[in-house]
Amino acid sequence: MHSFHYQRGKLTCESYPLDKAAERYGTPLYVYSSHTIVDHYQRLDRALHELHHEICYAVKANSNLSVIRLLADQGAGFDIVSGGELYRVIKAGGNPTKCTYAGVGKSREEIEYALRCEVLSFNIESEQELSAIDEIARSLNKRAPIAIRVNPDVSASTHKYISTGKTENKFGIAIDRVAEVYDRAQKMSNVRIRGVQMHIGSQITEIKPFVQAIEKMVPLVRQLKSDCGIEFFSIGGGIGIVYRGSLESGDKIWWKEDQSRHSLTIQEYTGATIPLLKSLSLRVLLEPGRFLVGNAGVLLTRVLYVKKTPAKTFVIVDAGMNDLIRPALYQGYHEVVPLRESRDQPLTKVDVVGPVCESGDFFAMDRDLVRIEPGDLLALMSAGAYGFTMASNYNSRPLPAEVLVSGSEAKIVRRRQSYADLIEHEIAEG
Ligand SMILES: *Cc1c(COP(=O)(O)O)cnc(C)c1O
Repeated sequence: MHSFHYQRGKLTCESYPLDKAAERYGTPLYVYSSHTIVDHYQRLDRALHELHHEICYAVKANSNLSVIRLLADQGAGFDIVSGGELYRVIKAGGNPTKCTYAGVGKSREEIEYALRCEVLSFNIESEQELSAIDEIARSLNKRAPIAIRVNPDVSASTHKYISTGKTENKFGIAIDRVAEVYDRAQKMSNVRIRGVQMHIGSQITEIKPFVQAIEKMVPLVRQLKSDCGIEFFSIGGGIGIVYRGSLESGDKIWWKEDQSRHSLTIQEYTGATIPLLKSLSLRVLLEPGRFLVGNAGVLLTRVLYVKKTPAKTFVIVDAGMNDLIRPALYQGYHEVVPLRESRDQPLTKVDVVGPVCESGDFFAMDRDLVRIEPGDLLALMSAGAYGFTMASNYNSRPLPAEVLVSGSEAKIVRRRQSYADLIEHEIAEG
């Protein structure tokens, strides 16, 4: 369920009209619905009530301080992948002792910082990292809480760039080696074993990979519970969302991204996984990112030009791949809809492209759109996850502003960068 709908001919977020946001704050502009974020969190939380569980929001999906705060207020923990994300969580009022710290390349500075902040757990991704953390913890006279990230070698049937649970991926430690590594960890004086973790990929829209991975893990988890006294099993994130048809089907939580439009509901996800997890009698951690925020955000953009060539019609907009890179990076799909509702009008096939000097700078190819004119406003739907967090200054384009809507109110939660901001840290030597 998300909160973007046409009301009296205008696309609105909750009850705030989006054309008003564009006029007020300019474009390109990210707009998030606080209601959608909270609603998704609460639905997942309720569906898991049978389990002793903790939802650790994956901050990399959307790390705006106000988004973190919203989820911290709901009681969320956080899944972080850098010292910078830990800093954000703390600044937003989140609790560092509810943070799980993942990532294959944690630096010494980051490890020291996380140890000082007393994170819940370091998710260990290699044996060298385990030794490094033991050594760094010793130098600080601390014991590092750890969970080993297991690579269960299952196929997540998602884009290859966001698949993480196969042996050819760089993540985790192979399942058949894990017991041995826990054995080593038990002998380390500055490491404390707290749990076991996995995360098989992102935008997974079928239940099968989740079930396969958990089933593969269960015997190991049982063994670790008795041998090492682990307290938690983190099953990671990866729950897929609706991208296609996300506007008209706002009442579905997530769908399979194919033509058959088979829907997979949150009840199906928890219905299939809870029975496997319940018998473990352990605390279960989940690390959803996209699921909580993906459909809670849109990127607003204004049409600059409509360029017709013999082969194509290009709708050139003022947002670019530097603002939203998902289509260029992994063929991510976003619905493109006009802010002004237009029913029963003829459709033409257009490419919606940005101003950046790259042919990969597009949002939609051969998409059916109603007649578009320069000056029109469009929304790129479902841009709340891996949108702003992946934005860059490429082509020296200032980062867009971000707005958080609650009911009929909109608040700026990150101001637009200025040209001066672009060069703030630079030095013109000589
Ligand atoms: C990115 C990431 C997540 C979140 O993935 P989503 O697909 O956004 O749910 C969870 N856990 C880890 C370790 C990650 O790296």
